[in-house]
Amino acid sequence: MNQEKEKEILNKIFTKIKTKEPLQEGDVVFGKVVQTTDKIAIVEVEYAENKQKAISPSNNGVLFVNNISDEYIEKVGDLLRKGDIIKAEITDADTFGYKLTINADNYGVIYANCIKCKKPLNLNNNQTQIKCLNCKQTQTRKIIKK
Ligand SMILES: [Zn+2]
Repeated sequence: MNQEKEKEILNKIFTKIKTKEPLQEGDVVFGKVVQTTDKIAIVEVEYAENKQKAISPSNNGVLFVNNISDEYIEKVGDLLRKGDIIKAEITDADTFGYKLTINADNYGVIYANCIKCKKPLNLNNNQTQIKCLNCKQTQTRKIIKK
């Protein structure tokens, strides 16, 4: 590829990024839980519901244990596991990343694998308690209500 062509393509890409608005408080995003401790889940924010919004290059989200459910839970792992895909709302955004909440019926886990056999869980019956159809292990998630 010649340099002129390359420059043209790069310009197009960067113009596109620049013209998108950054994500901010109240925006809805989708992301993957990449790590959990007792008090927080680290979430890689992958998609913005509003396609006109740009995800920051530092796309890490933080979800605190008290922003998961109305009910008291002792630790993040009670309702969320590494690898879960969640739909969440941004409560705070800066250049370092996003603070998230899933404490509402329309937010929560949209995809999860069984912690025992790693097969996808059936999240269709709106229950916090989920029985794996493959290995019969029962586990809990803060799932999105449909
Ligand atoms: Zn299983």
